[in-house]
Order: sequence, then structure tokens, then C-alpha cells
Amino acid sequence: MADHAARVADLAGLDAAVSDCFACPRLVDWREEVARTKRAAFRDQDYWGRPVPGFGAPDNRTGRGGAGPPATPPGAASEPRIGILGLAPAAHGGNRTGRVFTGDRSGDVLFAALHRAGLANQPTSVAADDGLALTGTRIFAAVRCAPPDNKPTPAERDTCAPWLHREVELIRPTLRVVVALGAFAWAAWWPVLRQVYGVRPPSPRPLFGHGAHWSGSAAPALLGCYHVSQQNTFTGRLTTEMLDDVFTRARQLAAVD
Ligand code: SF4
Repeated sequence: MADHAARVADLAGLDAAVSDCFACPRLVDWREEVARTKRAAFRDQDYWGRPVPGFGAPDNRTGRGGAGPPATPPGAASEPRIGILGLAPAAHGGNRTGRVFTGDRSGDVLFAALHRAGLANQPTSVAADDGLALTGTRIFAAVRCAPPDNKPTPAERDTCAPWLHREVELIRPTLRVVVALGAFAWAAWWPVLRQVYGVRPPSPRPLFGHGAHWSGSAAPALLGCYHVSQQNTFTGRLTTEMLDDVFTRARQLAAVD
């Protein structure tokens, strides 16, 4: 699998290759079972039920069915300068719609924040063909398949890591800052330093926290942000203002115009 990921030549090829991955038996069973049984509210929909590729700049191409990109917003920066690293797709969100953070409450919060920050052309993300386009920003997950209880195992994280590493490698020339949504994503970033940038991760590892900031000379800066899960947003642990502060900072660090 690592060899397969490393051989992919571009992001479109990566989307296609990762969509066809069956490396984690537990996650393959789960993503397919959820797609078969469905949630009552989505009974009439055709679930994606496969790994969910990254989304956003440079092409805003959706992985589902390889559909072409929507119109790029006027003046939008097409270079991916900001990366947003999530945990894994939601069973009835990305696993249903085929686009990361699309079709669930976490995505509602995230894309509304990106729109306020001038990084998305619309505040909603409901379906893979809804016309959403990001400016200078690409979103990807540490684990590309929906896990039971939103909890991938460390072995599944490690098995999936080559897809993340290759995606970062492909956007490396322009990537300036990564926002890690939650402690799992924060921890998943450190191996990228060695695998993609050839630099040793800091030791001890900086602790995750909302607003945590790490920077090194040879790799993108890393910003910590509480995950946009309902568990955090409904309880007020993560507020609109806190999210806006993180994306304002990311925008400044990445110099997105
Ligand atoms: S989690 Fe990653 S490695 Fe595992 S099956 Fe899904 S895409 Fe493949």
C-alpha cells in the first residue's frame, strides 16, 4: 500500500487510488455495512461507502465519481497553502456523500468558519456536487475510512498514513500551515515531518491544545484546534470565536490573499 501511494503521480490519481483501498478489514466492513443499512433520514440516498479523498485547492475536485471541479471563485487562490487535517470521515457524513466533512454537523461548523475566514465560497457543504470551492485550502483526514465510534486504532492510522504522506508531498511546494483538528490529527502529523520533509520531529512532541503552535524551519507550521465535533461545539468547548481566531492565524501564517 505504501508503494502504491508513493507511485501516484498527482492528486487526481491519489483520489482514484485511495478510493479503491481495502487495506483495513475492520474499516472496510464498517464503511460498507453503514452504506448498506443507512440512517433512516438518508434511506433513499446512494451512500459512497468507500475511502474519502482530500478536497479543496488546487482543483476543488470531488473524489466521488471523479467529478470535475466547480467554478473557481473569482480571485481565489488555487495554491493549497493551508492544510486542514481531520481525524476520519463520519459514517453518515463523508462516508455517505463521498466528500470530506460533507453532510454532517461537524462539516456545518467547519465550512461556516472557512466561509467567514474567506477560505470557502459558501458556508454550507451538503453534497459532493453542491458547488463548494475552497481558496488556498485543502482538507484531508488522517484515516480515510469511517471508523466505528469515530475511533480508528493506532494500527489503522499507521496503515492509512502513506495516503496522507503522499497527499502532503504532492502539495508540499505551496503548503505553509496545517491546522490539526483534535489530538488524533495533531499526533498523526509528526510522522509527516520525517516521511515528507526529511526532518526529525521535535522531542518531546509539543502537546496538543487549542491554539497550540509549532513551527520549524523546513516544514509547515502546525496549529492545534479543538475538533469541530458536536461534542465540542454543543458544549461550548469550541466557540465560533475560537474557530475564527485559528483560521485568521492560519491565513496570516500562510499569507493567503
Ligand atoms: S483507512 Fe486508509 S488504509 Fe485503511 S482501508 Fe481506508 S483508505 Fe485504506
